[in-house]
Amino acid sequence: MNKQQRPAERKTVVYTTKAKCRDCYRCVRVCPVHAIKMENGQAQVITENCIACGTCIKECPQHAKTYTLHDRLRQSIANA
Ligand code: SF4
Ligand code: SF4
Repeated sequence: MNKQQRPAERKTVVYTTKAKCRDCYRCVRVCPVHAIKMENGQAQVITENCIACGTCIKECPQHAKTYTLHDRLRQSIANA
């Protein structure tokens, strides 16, 4: 799936909790669309390329990856 095919409902932003990242490159290796780069010893998600597959979240041994669900959050607030 390339970013042109990215579904509109996928507004998930996956990011790294920098304090937890141990620079092991595992997430960089497993990301199917190469949406993670290393910068200053920290893994950073390239948001425009991320297809929100969740692989890096599952694979990170430090549990340093997390995400936000903007659309669901907005919906939850609207329904509250
Ligand atoms: S897998 Fe986790 S600890 Fe390893 S580089 Fe990625 S974010 Fe950092
Ligand atoms: S969620 Fe998937 S596409 Fe996004 S950075 Fe992690 S492994 Fe790559």
